[in-house]
Amino acid sequence: MGKPTGFMEYPRELPGDRNPRLRILDWNEFHDHLPEKKLQDQGARCMDCGVPFCHSACPVNNLIPEWNDLVYRGHWKDAIIRLWKTNNFPEFTGRVCPAPCEGSCVLGINEPPVTIKNIEASLIDNAWEQGWVLPQPPAARTGKKVAVIGSGPAGLAAADQLNKAGHLVTVYERADRIGGLLMYGIPNMKLDKKNVVERRVKLMEQEGVRFVTNAHIGKDVSVHDLLKEVDAMILATGATKPRDLPPTPGRNLTGIHFAVDFLHANTKSLLDSNHQDGRYISAKDKNVIVIGGGDTGTDCIGTSLRHGCRGLVNFELLAQPPVNRAADNPWPQWPRVLRVDYGHEEAKTKFGQDPRQYCILTKEFLGDDQGRVRALKTVQVDWVRDNGKLGMKEIPGSEQEWPADLVLLAMGFLGPEDTLVSALGMHTDTRSNYKAEYGKFATSVEGVFAAGDCRRGQSLVVWAINEGRGAARECDRYLMGATRLP
Ligand SMILES: Cc1cc2nc3c(=O)[nH]c(=O)nc-3n(C[C@H](O)[C@H](O)[C@H](O)COP(=O)(O)OP(=O)(O)OC[C@H]3O[C@@H](n4cnc5c(N)ncnc54)[C@H](O)[C@@H]3O)c2cc1C
Ligand code: SF4
Repeated sequence: MGKPTGFMEYPRELPGDRNPRLRILDWNEFHDHLPEKKLQDQGARCMDCGVPFCHSACPVNNLIPEWNDLVYRGHWKDAIIRLWKTNNFPEFTGRVCPAPCEGSCVLGINEPPVTIKNIEASLIDNAWEQGWVLPQPPAARTGKKVAVIGSGPAGLAAADQLNKAGHLVTVYERADRIGGLLMYGIPNMKLDKKNVVERRVKLMEQEGVRFVTNAHIGKDVSVHDLLKEVDAMILATGATKPRDLPPTPGRNLTGIHFAVDFLHANTKSLLDSNHQDGRYISAKDKNVIVIGGGDTGTDCIGTSLRHGCRGLVNFELLAQPPVNRAADNPWPQWPRVLRVDYGHEEAKTKFGQDPRQYCILTKEFLGDDQGRVRALKTVQVDWVRDNGKLGMKEIPGSEQEWPADLVLLAMGFLGPEDTLVSALGMHTDTRSNYKAEYGKFATSVEGVFAAGDCRRGQSLVVWAINEGRGAARECDRYLMGATRLP
């Protein structure tokens, strides 16, 4: 695969992102592409390692060494055909996946890994540009009807696969636009809504998938009535209950919001009116504190900067990860190391320092006489092992006050909402997710399957695609007695 000596000849190279100082002035995507020849060199770095750990680390099992080799040889169309075999939406993963494949790349043992994610994005973007991505409706219809509830990556992947198998698929979404967190979670600068998400949705429509927006199943539309109309149902409703802080004085002050509410309103207002309607939570001229890290925290940072915030701090309860892999985190495990994501880089450029503060516990929100948040009281913590169990200890005398006009809570999610659980009398697991065994995806209700964050808990776009594909396969088997879906 690739060029036998490529990994010795070419260093890892990624396209430079747009200048952080300039890109925070707009909402356009910040990634660029490498020219064709340089991409071929990067594909050439794939070194015929024999056991491609990247392939098994990728949740959709992309045939990475095969398309790296085809890229190196300039066979772009064959490469994208290989990529389509395993991934319905490479334009999403090529932009937002954290790339566990690269953490397991064999070259990564002693050299920087192959730029797998960037090659994936370039392959699909080139395919769209060349006009190779065309509607491919199924040759024949089975006459079976399937309802998919939720239009995030899990619902979209399930719908795409079931439509390919010839079933009539309708996707129901309670929001006013299709895409789940691809639309209203991940901001536009990371994943363009009109040119990338909606382009894919349009293609699926042309292939025969129906989309119904503003349809909250279990609330506006009876799930029982819907079940009577279809032959099977897939639940892909996401993990949408945001995690709150433990009871904290001042939590009810105004100016404290869940991150998803902030991000959702921002993208909706941007798409509806280019922010002219003012129907979003603005960070302009405010001191912003983001509590919690991860992708959601980073997206709050990037969004606040684009609003023109005055100051920005990001609290993280855990300790700062090491710069290099720790001894208990060897290759090919996912490297738990310090990463500088786009928002951190932008904040550093604007304010001269990384916004992240580690080992910080919020003790109290302080308000002004109008009931608005004006500051946070925190304490520094230490993480210590006691009988092998990691525990947190507050450090006496480390109390601190931080000015804040806007606080964004980005501490993860607690599973799907209860609406459909109670309406269907469905079993849940110990973490309140829909109970359905991985691989079978069948819930406790006959003919109803579950996929994505609502089944596995909050996760990644690529896992949602994996589960949507798997649930579609099992649903097809249920409907037809056998399946040819992968
Ligand atoms: C801010 C943020 C940033 C993220 N960034 C990344 C990233 O960079 N990379 C990455 O890999 N992952 C990222 N993630 C995680 C990723 O977005 C999710 O794991 C993924 O979207 C889950 O897909 P899903 O289809 O299961 O659910 P979702 O994308 O959550 O979609 C579920 C959909 O179901 C709808 N719905 C729920 N209940 C009903 C109902 N009863 N009737 C009708 N519709 C309903 C919801 O409105 C929603 O649109 C991020 C998550 C967040 C919150
Ligand atoms: S989907 Fe993610 S893990 Fe798989 S090849 Fe692409 S970047 Fe890597």
